[in-house]
Amino acid sequence: MKVIKQKVELLNNLFYEQMVQNVVSASNQCWKTGCLFDGTLAEGEKIIKSRIKVGHESLIEHASLTMKFTTNRAITHEIVRHRLASYTQASTRYQNYTKEAWGGLTMIQPHWVTGNICGEWSEEKYDSVVEQEGTTPTSLWLWGRLTDEWEYKIMAENDMVPDDMRGILPNDLATTLVMTANMRQWRHFFKLRALSTTGRAHPQIVEIATMAMNLAYNYAPCFFEDLKDKWDE
Ligand SMILES: Cc1cc2nc3c(=O)[nH]c(=O)nc-3n(C[C@H](O)[C@H](O)[C@H](O)COP(=O)(O)OP(=O)(O)OC[C@H]3O[C@@H](n4cnc5c(N)ncnc54)[C@H](O)[C@@H]3O)c2cc1C
Repeated sequence: MKVIKQKVELLNNLFYEQMVQNVVSASNQCWKTGCLFDGTLAEGEKIIKSRIKVGHESLIEHASLTMKFTTNRAITHEIVRHRLASYTQASTRYQNYTKEAWGGLTMIQPHWVTGNICGEWSEEKYDSVVEQEGTTPTSLWLWGRLTDEWEYKIMAENDMVPDDMRGILPNDLATTLVMTANMRQWRHFFKLRALSTTGRAHPQIVEIATMAMNLAYNYAPCFFEDLKDKWDE
């Protein structure tokens, strides 16, 4: 069994300048003047920020970002509740984690574990840690996940198929989820999941949504600048 930390990558196919151009072109339709954008990026950014400020957010639906989340299945379950987005997720029905390509189960290190427990774990390594440190919440979690992997392997040895074996996979199993959404929806997602504007979001989704928000801001700043002020507070 392997333990890793969650992460997020930006997989974009549209350059920032193109996104700004798209949104400003759409904005120009509203007044039919065609002269709101003088062609510079700075002017386009200014227009977009002013539209966001007045709540004219349908305009920023003309630009989108694609992100790849590597996190646990509990967090992806929360992410896919956001309906105005497109998703593709690793299948637990078709992949057999005992095959060579996977080499066993991979888990996401829980947010509450202090220190870094990333790496390969075996029963022997677990025993030596418990011998030195005694039983702790972290060791109990490791034992549970090693047992999950052991059960999964026994099922595979008994010719069961992934479709049926997946029932014993835990919420902390690592998975990948690709999410494409327009800027309006990303802003909504970041408000709820990184900035907790509607109530305390789970610490693990706060962590990964904040990573995504930083990536989004660094790639396409004018769409998120007002939110950046809030997460800097
Ligand atoms: C702190 C927190 C705790 C939560 N706890 C729970 C829980 O205990 N149980 C649970 O089931 N869920 C829970 N959720 C999930 C939550 O109820 C939403 O399903 C999730 O956050 C998706 O956000 P959203 O509904 O704003 O819409 P999204 O799907 O992100 O859509 C964006 C916006 O589009 C509009 N929209 C989308 N679909 C519709 C529609 N059908 N009708 C009208 N307007 C629509 C709304 O304005 C919505 O805000 C929780 C979320 C948070 C952040």
